[in-house]
Amino acid sequence: MTHTTDHNQALFDRAKRVIPGGVNSPVRAFKAVGGTPRFIERAQGPYFWDANGQRYIDYIGSWGPMILGHGYPAVVEAVQEAVLDGFSFGAPTEREVQLAEEILRLMPSMDMVRLVSSGTEAAMSAIRLARGATGRSKLIKFEGCYHGHADALLVKAGSGLATFGNATSAGVPPEVVQHTLVLEYNNVAQLEEAFTLYGKEIACLMIEPIAGNMNFVRASIPFVKRCRELCTEYGALLVFDEVMNGFRVALGGAQSVYARQLPGFEPDMTVMGKVIGGGMPLAAFGAKRAVMERLAPLGAVYQAGTLSGNPVATACGLATLREISKPGFFDDLSAKTLSLVDGLKAAAAAEGVAFSADCEGGMFGFFLLSELPQNYPQVMKSDGKRFNQLFHGLLERGVYIAPALYEAGFVSAAHTDEDISATVAAARETFKSM
Ligand SMILES: *Cc1c(COP(=O)(O)O)cnc(C)c1O
Repeated sequence: MTHTTDHNQALFDRAKRVIPGGVNSPVRAFKAVGGTPRFIERAQGPYFWDANGQRYIDYIGSWGPMILGHGYPAVVEAVQEAVLDGFSFGAPTEREVQLAEEILRLMPSMDMVRLVSSGTEAAMSAIRLARGATGRSKLIKFEGCYHGHADALLVKAGSGLATFGNATSAGVPPEVVQHTLVLEYNNVAQLEEAFTLYGKEIACLMIEPIAGNMNFVRASIPFVKRCRELCTEYGALLVFDEVMNGFRVALGGAQSVYARQLPGFEPDMTVMGKVIGGGMPLAAFGAKRAVMERLAPLGAVYQAGTLSGNPVATACGLATLREISKPGFFDDLSAKTLSLVDGLKAAAAAEGVAFSADCEGGMFGFFLLSELPQNYPQVMKSDGKRFNQLFHGLLERGVYIAPALYEAGFVSAAHTDEDISATVAAARETFKSM
């Protein structure tokens, strides 16, 4: 460190006195990788700068939302204009209607959406709605998928199908997770067994189609096909959690990626967040009309929010969706992400490091494993110490990736070819030292 004072460390020490662990979301604390979290002062395009004035090429993009890069002029202008008209009214606005219309245009599997403020809230509300609409209690989720921190979703697999899940957090009573069945991702046989045992009691099956919370693991085509068929057969709702994938892996989200190979494929319900807020607190969930009309004020399923559909957040989200809807946007973004992934693979191969990587649209993941994992136990075989070496090697060289092995990465439209070459060069130097 060339600075006499480490401002990041000073801020972290101060933060730890007043905020648990010094952070407002656990992964930011660098607990997995060690070292001092960087306190970010400002960001522009594909970069951000920490409290020491050090610049980083940013591959987390606020964990997905910043698909245009930071400070994109059309988005900044839309937010500035919206702020002048008022921060929040607690009454409806035209922009909420526009954003709902825009989302439905891009993801035609839904007829209606409700706007909320976080992915957690959207997933939690989607489950309540699925339970209310079906009159059933049980739900299926998959090991390694994250759907926010609602109580019923903080669950790991029990010892067998008959035992249901165990809470992964203190403060979640066993009664609250007793209806959550946790299955292995991409395991068709286990899925079939679960439906045979409990099919008529299952309200919904929730899945991250391209799981970004175990780095990057795709649900296989046969697996998604079977999820769809079994939900239809047993009258359960298939819920795609596209909080990360939506408007990120393709304009139409992961559902459009799967529909390329499964013609006519649609989930019954979609949960969204991240990109639709463009970096502001905004999320949503949607479904067909008959399901959505079960929500209050029309139906008996209660759901509400003081800041839902916030006028500044909707301005930010709308401006972001407009930019990414422009012709060629996703072709360019996908090509950039692919060139990063190919470059990293080549660098690892040149240095003899076991490495595998995958990407879709502006989302990527890599593993220090010779083959791409298919489920959470396989992801767990990654060597945490080696990942931490890679993380810190990149960080020292001005490249910021997620500070945990279980997280996907994100490329924005603002990343240049030079940024990508610099990243690949930094990775190669780091691989050499490993
Ligand atoms: C980020 C994320 C969530 C939670 O969203 P928050 O806005 O952090 O509450 C839910 N599901 C998936 C797939 C996510 O990536």
